[in-house]
Amino acid sequence: PKYVYDFTEGNRDMKDLLGGKGANLAEMTNLGLPVPPGFTITTEACRVYLATGAPPPELAAEVDEHLARLEQVMGRKLGDPDDPLLVSVRSGAKFSMPGMMDTVLNIGLNDASVNGLAKQGGNERFAWDSYRRLLSMFGKTVLGVDGELFEHALDEAKKAKGTTSDLDLEADDFQRLVEVYKDIIRTHAGREFPQDPREQLNLAIRAVFESWNGERARLYRRQERIPHDLGTAVNVVAMVFGNMGLDSGTGVAFTRDPGSGDQGIYGDYLQNAQGEDVVAGIRNTVPLTELEKLNKAAYDQLLDIMRTLERHYKDLCDIEFTIERGKLWMLQTRVGKRTAAAAFRIATQLVDEGLIDMDEALQRVTGAQLAQLMFPRFDEKAAKKQIAKGVNASPGAAVGKAVFDSKTAAEYAARGERVILVRRETNPDDLPGMIAAQGILTARGGKTSHAAVVARGMGKTCVSGAEQIDIDLANRRFTGPNGEVVQEGDVISIDGTSGAVYLGEVPVVPSPVVEYFEGKLAPDADPLVSAVHRIITHADARRRLGVEANADTPEDAQRARRFGAEGIGLCRTEHMFLGERRKVVERLILAKDEAEQQAALAELLPLQRDDFVGIFEAMDGLPVTVRLIDPPLHEFLPDLTDLSVRIAVAEAKGEPVDPHDRELLDAVRRLHEQNPMLGLRGVRLGLVIPGLFALQVRAIAEAAAILIKRGKNPRPEIMVPLVGAIQELEIVREEAEGILRTVSKETGVDVHALIGTMIEVPRAALTAAQIAEAAEFFSFGTNDLTQMTWGFSRDDVEGAFFGRYMDLGIFGVSPFETLDRDGVGRLIRMAVTEGRATRPDLRIGICGEHGGDPESVHFCHEVGLDYVSCSPFRVPVARLEAGRAAV
Ligand code: ADP
Ligand code: MG
Ligand code: MG
Repeated sequence: PKYVYDFTEGNRDMKDLLGGKGANLAEMTNLGLPVPPGFTITTEACRVYLATGAPPPELAAEVDEHLARLEQVMGRKLGDPDDPLLVSVRSGAKFSMPGMMDTVLNIGLNDASVNGLAKQGGNERFAWDSYRRLLSMFGKTVLGVDGELFEHALDEAKKAKGTTSDLDLEADDFQRLVEVYKDIIRTHAGREFPQDPREQLNLAIRAVFESWNGERARLYRRQERIPHDLGTAVNVVAMVFGNMGLDSGTGVAFTRDPGSGDQGIYGDYLQNAQGEDVVAGIRNTVPLTELEKLNKAAYDQLLDIMRTLERHYKDLCDIEFTIERGKLWMLQTRVGKRTAAAAFRIATQLVDEGLIDMDEALQRVTGAQLAQLMFPRFDEKAAKKQIAKGVNASPGAAVGKAVFDSKTAAEYAARGERVILVRRETNPDDLPGMIAAQGILTARGGKTSHAAVVARGMGKTCVSGAEQIDIDLANRRFTGPNGEVVQEGDVISIDGTSGAVYLGEVPVVPSPVVEYFEGKLAPDADPLVSAVHRIITHADARRRLGVEANADTPEDAQRARRFGAEGIGLCRTEHMFLGERRKVVERLILAKDEAEQQAALAELLPLQRDDFVGIFEAMDGLPVTVRLIDPPLHEFLPDLTDLSVRIAVAEAKGEPVDPHDRELLDAVRRLHEQNPMLGLRGVRLGLVIPGLFALQVRAIAEAAAILIKRGKNPRPEIMVPLVGAIQELEIVREEAEGILRTVSKETGVDVHALIGTMIEVPRAALTAAQIAEAAEFFSFGTNDLTQMTWGFSRDDVEGAFFGRYMDLGIFGVSPFETLDRDGVGRLIRMAVTEGRATRPDLRIGICGEHGGDPESVHFCHEVGLDYVSCSPFRVPVARLEAGRAAV
């Protein structure tokens, strides 16, 4: 293969081979822009190097050939003592990894050519400045010397001069520094700085290859989920000099504001400086607009080039440039990173400018960006007192009184107070408190801890792993690192976007995007809202997937509907057995005969019926998929330990023990399971406790009848959880159909409901062809399906070893967050195909956490599901991603 490409030979589509930097340098060269000549060594050469420990044997000759051509074009020879050609050796991978890999400038300088450079440049200071820069960069990145040593020597030189600015150092200062730097290299690298320019070049190329596997680069790739086997390209570029005096300089610019998307001139410029100086902050840069005064011709040319690049790339570009004695040179460009707000605004601006169409605009934004725009934020201008910093586990801004357990959180919330649930770590028992809280703060755990995952699912703010806080549960308080004490009831503020924890109340500003979705802001209220409106409207027009919501209450249902939900894909019924009703459920469980059981059920019926009336009404005309009761029964009983302790204490004190407590204890013991998630739950419960499912079906049917009589159009669907065999479903189905008929007869109203099942046990997926005979719809319960396919319990493993698994690269993201295509995904594909083979009009959706995850939405589109269902907050995200998947 060909391992080296001249800039004139490449183009922007060759990023795989030439890396982003190389491909774009080639593109700019071919656009006729002033790019210093050079060539790119391919990522393929790097891959060979990484695999074998040596560059491919053909590489040296190809580099020779391209170098010779470069020398010819430049009319100089690399490192020539009289008139040296200097080059930079720059890394550049397919995906931009800013500052993660290495670059060496001024290759070709040595003890002799430094004099040639001085003579040709007519500037001694510039030549010695360039040489000392080479020594420090080469020493650090190629020879592995600690960069601090050079920094320190430079500081000493400035100190000796009584200055803090490198501009005050003169030629002889730099000349002396060169000797010091050489000493540092000799001492710390155990070798002399190589004087041979070609050896410098070869070593630098190898160092860039190796920087691919540097620790920083590896970590960055892991975080950004960039594959480890791509390798980097190496660009060899003729040097141009921004450090030749005040008529020279270097800068960076954006073609529009990457923060807001506003059009204008954004950038920084630094006179008499080279390369990294701008970003390294060695001196204060000036805003790019000042360049107009310094060099009008170069400034105008730069603006002209920026317009050319924007029109050419049809997107925001960022650029690096250098001015050498008044002449402008382009050193880099790429499609620039931007904030979520800027992404939406720029996409629609480009549509208005006629550069892209709406389909393309839709591709330019992501669901993750939309989600970011939906979180409230702390007022930037407000004063804040930060006391700790944790992991930014789930974005947003939350303010409330600190509370230390779930129950207290629920009590405060019931009184209408806002709370932050503060826990060492959370577990499923904390769920009610998490729901009641504005935000969650934990002292332990990272982005995959229980708290983090659950909070993200709920769209709730969470800071996890704030290790500096010391929680004293017994005394209901926590202590900050500087001894600040926060008692239960004290107000704190947490920023899930940055991980900061503040004392007291920091004012929050709501997201205008949410206000728009809520109907409180008009679509043209401000430029950002208008951009979001246009793009999401286009997504809706494009998408094939329906988007429904997981909602259990009328309020959630209404909210979901405002956010665009086209039904409820999962209405859980567990909460209909909690709160005040827990006592009735206890009676149901403790019932000694059928009469007692019936009495308890009869008491629950009207309550549940009212619940359904509210929900169906909120979703009038749209499907509401009601899942029959799912969790193990003992979740409705008191905790075994609590109860045992209560009884033991009473006994020890010689007090009479409440006989009801004893009965309860027996029941709790009887129902105790080693492995409740694999125990008596879901359909199994319905088959074991007579009358339980019947009660629920009756409540659904009667609610529907009431609404039909009121002229409404309820569309209930009955969903049976945890089915693994068609027989289970058939039994429940027969009973349910009977009840629907009975209620129709009793009420004189024709009540219909689709009857279907969740596919969440692997066996259900494997026997989908059979199950579809009894099911009118499937809904993939991917939380359980993931848990049972992998064989690990979500509640137990995320905190325990997921972090480690991700470090080891076993998965890049939790399979509970993004659907595991290879394993769980395969079961889903199979069940879709085989289910539809049995029943072509089978309605199929997904209602697990994954329904709102962008990646997973794309998967659902691909396998041909009818809809995804997710938390109300995620509905707009799913709409957007479903649209993106369809274009
Ligand atoms: P990074 O990928 O970290 O941005 P670069 O390869 O772009 O690293 O180089 C670092 C700095 O050196 C940049 O400011 C760049 O503009 C500058 N630079 C690179 N090559 C040259 C060159 N041939 N002449 C002048 N400056 C250069
Ligand atoms: Mg750069
Ligand atoms: Mg389930």
